Amino acid sequence: MNVRRTMPLCLLLAFAIAHASEPLERKPGQSYYFSFDPYVEYVAGDLPIVLTSPHGGRLKPDTIRNRTKGVTDMDVNTQELARAVLDALHALSGRHAHLVASHLHRSKLDPNREIVEAAQGDPMAERAWREFHDTVRLAIDSAVARHGFAFLIDLHGHAHPIPRLELGYALSTRQLNVPDAEFDRSGVIAVSTLRDLHARRGGSAAALLRGPRSLGALFAARGLRAIPSPAEPQPEGHPYFNGGYIVRRHAAAPDTPKVDGLQIECPRAGVRDTAEARARFANITAEVLAVFLQENHDFRLDAKK
Ligand SMILES: [Zn+2]
Repeated sequence: MNVRRTMPLCLLLAFAIAHASEPLERKPGQSYYFSFDPYVEYVAGDLPIVLTSPHGGRLKPDTIRNRTKGVTDMDVNTQELARAVLDALHALSGRHAHLVASHLHRSKLDPNREIVEAAQGDPMAERAWREFHDTVRLAIDSAVARHGFAFLIDLHGHAHPIPRLELGYALSTRQLNVPDAEFDRSGVIAVSTLRDLHARRGGSAAALLRGPRSLGALFAARGLRAIPSPAEPQPEGHPYFNGGYIVRRHAAAPDTPKVDGLQIECPRAGVRDTAEARARFANITAEVLAVFLQENHDFRLDAKK
């Protein structure tokens, strides 16, 4: 993993020169690092799906100061979970999703925060933060150029009492804790991570978010409880992660046309604690995406090349 120690100088130079002369043809399924410090990994893809794994890193270099404010615990096994999803998508489609993974432990960098809280003034952490977000943008731009849209999934792990997937669309508990008709009237879908999809296809925003063909419904039908979904449409008074900086910046912001997506917060038991559990979650996620992308983006995930 440590590029500095294992990569000969000539390769490092070739790497730097290649990176300086964009555009560079990148091979789907191949890992790339865009600086000498192996803190941000990019797995190139040829699917419209972009995965991010900001809290699964384990590196704690002495050269970066510890963060002293905010959450510093990692989301255990979420990077492994993201790789399992890549594998399942490849098995289904014969193609590769993009992955952007932070290898820094969250005590050193939190890419799911704005830069001040993320890096807390450490210049190397700030550089890794910029590299992470530049790489997410590169992956999204590549997906949009190839397919006309990108679907961003930011993967996390939670320890809330209810063991269900928390699907975050950048809408708050207060915005979700209303009946469907009121939700539709509120117009808040226009500031969510599904803003572009809804603007294009119209219809009930509540149906898109928590109706019988929503992502939550598709997960629940395959045995993974999810909120929001038809059975669990509102967080009510329970703790719920509604989507952080990554999906808000890259999918919900007004300057992100053609990008939809969500944050998925996963419970530990039965989802990310064992290789078998991760493979099951990954296979279900691939199936869910196949249905959702076909119905909403007219994209066939299971049509092998
Ligand atoms: Zn997290």
